[in-house]
Amino acid sequence: TAGAKPLKRVMLKISGEALMGPQGFGLHPPTVERIAREVQSVHEMGVEICMVIGGGNIFRGLQGSAQGMERTTADYMGMLATVMNALAMQGAMESLGIHTRVISAIPMDQVCEPYIRRRAVRHLEKKRVVIFAAGTGNPYFTTDTAATLRASEMSCGAIFKGTKVDGVYDKDPEKHPDAVRYETITYDEVLQKHLKVMDASAIALARENGLPIIVFSLDEPGGFRGILAGKGTYTRVEG
Ligand code: UDP
Repeated sequence: TAGAKPLKRVMLKISGEALMGPQGFGLHPPTVERIAREVQSVHEMGVEICMVIGGGNIFRGLQGSAQGMERTTADYMGMLATVMNALAMQGAMESLGIHTRVISAIPMDQVCEPYIRRRAVRHLEKKRVVIFAAGTGNPYFTTDTAATLRASEMSCGAIFKGTKVDGVYDKDPEKHPDAVRYETITYDEVLQKHLKVMDASAIALARENGLPIIVFSLDEPGGFRGILAGKGTYTRVEG
């Protein structure tokens, strides 16, 4: 199974692109709702859920800076994009009747709560889904690092990274039909082989804190719940 013992609290990391559905950009409400249902089915198991959603569907800092914008400005725009995604997901979760809180690394009191660790823990204990927005609050980072940081702070048992494919492959499975999926792989191998699991700072932080990363397909209906119940295919990064 994904965990030796049942996991009490987990982090789900999804990219902003996961929310754009068949569109090339932005938010696709039916897709947001579908993902909210996937989270709901895990919430029903009694698992405490943290979420981090990227912002790449709306804005990516590096691309902005490549177009002549200052990197830090572009990164702040990227962080703001994650807040929009978090609010969209909160709306979808609450319409399913799941109490959800958005907590931002950059305070914006009229929009959501500021990040206060003990308060976030309390929400989780009360079985509220907590969506951590605005990344780490710092430029030059990614939401993968934010997910790893918050998962460490919240003492999550693992990070679940929902992607388009059901794990980590030795080469891009969308381009190479003979690509082989790893059942398990170490943090060091991911770094040495430059495998696109998470960026290097996120992998290093997960390694330091002994936080397993489970890469699975978010396109597979019931996939998230299945893996928590010990079914399905995925890659486990640890060791
Ligand atoms: N970002 C940042 N600091 C953070 C997290 C995100 O500056 O701690 C910015 C960065 O510009 C990044 C953008 O927000 O490109 C969107 O985040 P990310 O690329 O991680 O989103 P994803 O690829 O998961 O959709």
